[in-house]
Amino acid sequence: MEQTFFMIKPDGTRRNLVGEIISRIEKKGLEIKAMKMMQISNRLAKKHYAEHIDKPFFSDLKEFITSGPVVAMVVEGPGAIKIVRRMMGQTDPAESTPGSIRGDYALSIDRNVVHGSDSPESAEREIDLFFSEDEII
Ligand code: UDP
Repeated sequence: MEQTFFMIKPDGTRRNLVGEIISRIEKKGLEIKAMKMMQISNRLAKKHYAEHIDKPFFSDLKEFITSGPVVAMVVEGPGAIKIVRRMMGQTDPAESTPGSIRGDYALSIDRNVVHGSDSPESAEREIDLFFSEDEII
């Protein structure tokens, strides 16, 4: 079994896509082991997106990710990291296949609705950043 960190970003909650996206995770057969709606602080945004801190888009990204509630989850299943990434589609929705979450619900790279860990190392790091041990079932 593998766990990944998955998050519906502020554009997803604002557009009332929470139920639709969670439904896809459930129907795929993945298990939600933890979930909370929360507002990301500047401090958490910097930690979560540490690898992008020097990129030109970082300040917009930080502003966006802290602009409204997100729904953060720990999702579990065999090969969950790769499966969730495939369900999300490419980072740039213009490249995302229809049928994927970004392919169906997003138009631009800076408003791409969801986040999912891209490796076992980032999954561990991100789960640890967002959840304490007693919040995970
Ligand atoms: N991003 C952006 N502009 C860019 C590249 C990335 O706003 O030119 C944002 C976008 O929201 C993306 C996030 O930064 O989801 C993290 O980028 P990454 O390359 O890690 O993509 P992801 O893992 O989210 O597919």
